[in-house]
This record gives sequence, C-alpha cells and structure tokens, in this order.
Amino acid sequence: MERKDVLNLGAGPSALPEHVLQEAARGLLNYNGTGMGITEISHRSKEFQQLTNDLSATLRSLLNVPQTHEILFAQGGASLVFSSIVLNLLSRFKLLHPEIPASETYIDYVVTGTWSKKASEEGKRLAGSVGVNVNIAADSRAYSKDGKSFECVPPLDAYKWSPPAQTAFVYYCENETVNGVQFASSQAVSTAFPLNQFQDNIDPPIIADFSSSFLSRPIPNISSYGMIYGGAQKNVGPAGLTILIVRKDLLVDVDAAHKLGAPVVPLTLSYKTLADNGSLYNTPPMFSMYVSLLVAKDIAAKGGLVPLEERNYQKQETIYGALEKLQEKGLIRINVLPGSRSWMNVTFVFLQPDKEKAFLEATEAKGLRGVKGHRSVGGFRISLYNAITQENADTVATVLTNFLNSS
Ligand code: PLP
Repeated sequence: MERKDVLNLGAGPSALPEHVLQEAARGLLNYNGTGMGITEISHRSKEFQQLTNDLSATLRSLLNVPQTHEILFAQGGASLVFSSIVLNLLSRFKLLHPEIPASETYIDYVVTGTWSKKASEEGKRLAGSVGVNVNIAADSRAYSKDGKSFECVPPLDAYKWSPPAQTAFVYYCENETVNGVQFASSQAVSTAFPLNQFQDNIDPPIIADFSSSFLSRPIPNISSYGMIYGGAQKNVGPAGLTILIVRKDLLVDVDAAHKLGAPVVPLTLSYKTLADNGSLYNTPPMFSMYVSLLVAKDIAAKGGLVPLEERNYQKQETIYGALEKLQEKGLIRINVLPGSRSWMNVTFVFLQPDKEKAFLEATEAKGLRGVKGHRSVGGFRISLYNAITQENADTVATVLTNFLNSS
C-alpha cells in the first residue's frame, strides 16, 4: 500500500502534512547543513538552541501568547500533566496560603469525557493522598439521555465551583478526543467554557487540556488561563512533546512549598525547573520539536490560525452535514448534541450493528483508515485534524452518502 492510497483519519497519532514530513526527513539526515541529523546533534548546540527559540516564537505569534505566559516544552505526554499540574499547583497554593489546611483546600474538575475524567482520577490519587478535596464542578453525563454518556458540555448553570479563595486550580478539557465533545471557542456562545464565572481570572488558575485541538483555531482570551497545554501528536507533530503555555506566577519553587507541607515534586516535573532552564533541563524530545516547528511555520506561512479556523469549520460542516442525513434516515446517531460537537473528532454509532460491519468495509475499500471509534465507546470516529483537507472531507462525505443511498 502506498501513502497516496490511504486517507488516515485516526485520532492520534495522526496524519501530518506530507510536504512537512518530506522536509523533516531531510533534516533527519542533515539538519541545516550541519552534516548531522536533528536527532544526532547536541541539544545544547547553538543550532538546537535556535530551534527551541524559533518554536517558541512561532507558537507565541500564532496563538498571540501574551508576555505574562511562558511557553515550555516537556516530555511525558498529556497524561503526565494530569500529575504535574496537581503537584505544581498545590505547591503554589501552599506558598500563597500556608495557613489553609489541606482539608480546606480544593481542586476543581469539569468532566466532559474520557480525558478529563482520567485527569480528575489522577487528581484524586495525588491530591487525595495529602488530604486535599477534589470537587467535580460539573459532570456532563448528568445531562445526557441515559445519564452515563458524554453528549454535551455542561449547561452554564450546572457548575458548582468550590470557594475560590480555597481552590488551587480549576481544570477542564477543551476537546474530548474519545467522545467528540468540544467547548465552543467564543464566549458569546452558551457552550463555551464559562471563563467569565471567575472574577479576576487570576485565582483560581484555570487549566485547560487542548491536546486534540491545539493549533486548529485561535484560542481567544488566552490571558485568562493559568495554563493551556497539549500533547503534540494530533495537529502539531510526533508524540513525545507536550507544549505548556504557563502564566509566570504558576512557576513556583516546589522545594520551598514542600518545606511548608506541600507534596515533594520530582524536579523534572517542576514547571519552574523547566522555565529556568529554557526547557532544556534534560534532553528534550528533539525530533518532535523539530517537526512541530516545521508544522507551526507551515501554518504561519499559510496565514495563521484564522484561515485555518475557517478551513476546519468548513470540513466539520461537510461531515456533520452528511451524517445528519444518515441520522434523519434512522441509520445512525451522532453521539454529540449540536453546540458541543467537536470540529476535530466526529463520533457516531450505527443503530443496527450489522450496518456497522458493512460501513467499515465500505471505508476500508476506499482507503479510509483509523475510523473505528475508541474501544471504550465503539461506533465510529472521524478525525479532521489540520492535515485533512477539504477534498479529503468531501471524499469521506461521498462515502457516507453512497452508503446512505445503498442502504
Ligand atoms: N488529553 C487528550 C485530550 C488526549 O486526546 C490525549 C490522548 O489522546 C491525552 C490527554 C493523553 O495524551 P498522552 O497519550 O500524550 O499522554
């Protein structure tokens, strides 16, 4: 099978633009005329320092990141952030409020799908072990028809926040890759995350997992966040790199906090350690950073995130539009309600299981790959990351329409 015969609609790691991969392959052999490949040079060389600076500057410009926030490059994937966020932010809270005991301290999670649920469970393990309370401020399953599926983001009046002065952070996942639930990006829409429910937007810091929507559209109100982060392996580059956009007051001395009773934090997980060392405390995921820089530059060369947002909007319109027709015919159910539907991960199930097999065969025959839903939810998932073009989306829509006509 050739690359050209396949359309990779997988949820991640996922397709990257082919011309970027070709350039990356050249750099793998000979980076910038050094005669050595990017994975073979020192991470302390001037060439790699330059790459790190370029990646940081390109992301800052694409996302309009204010000077109040640092851009850090970490290893360990988004899952490690589930842990590091708890450790760093409990440290910060202890430094700010040594007088508040753990039993009166809270961390708040909004659960809208598999990944925020997982993050909250790690919060319970780590914060719970030192007596800090975990509050599920809202769980969108309560608003689904069967009471156990993730079909939407919570309604605006659902959130039950802990007392702000006693809350170390508030956490949510902007795009739930497995379930296909996404918050709207504009605060004017009722399905946006309600940033305006927090008075000064400083405390408690708002932490958001943007792993599967990072660089797919602009992030408005970025200065209102304590931290935005994402693993690279969807829109940005190969797995291995996690990008953290952290407000500077979240970079705290974890050892000083430990002396006051906060948990001990491995130095490699301390955001301040990363920042103090320009993200080069230890060897970073160099190849992933290199490809991410090529991807970010490519987006910038094509006009940045605003035109990309328009392209991604059109793609999901095409797919949901085709799916609505199958839904009207009673063939499928789109898992997520309008307003909360992900632009990146479109999920649906067939109402009769035998159709599922036939549809999978139809997609396979057309070279579509990675369309099976996550094992925990079943059905289908079509991921529309940046490397998927409108032409690709049209191909998928045609497969859907042909299936409808032949059913
Ligand atoms: N958060 C989201 C939204 C994800 O989609 C994923 C992985 O797909 C993760 C977190 C976990 O990422 P990792 O496997 O890099 O730890």
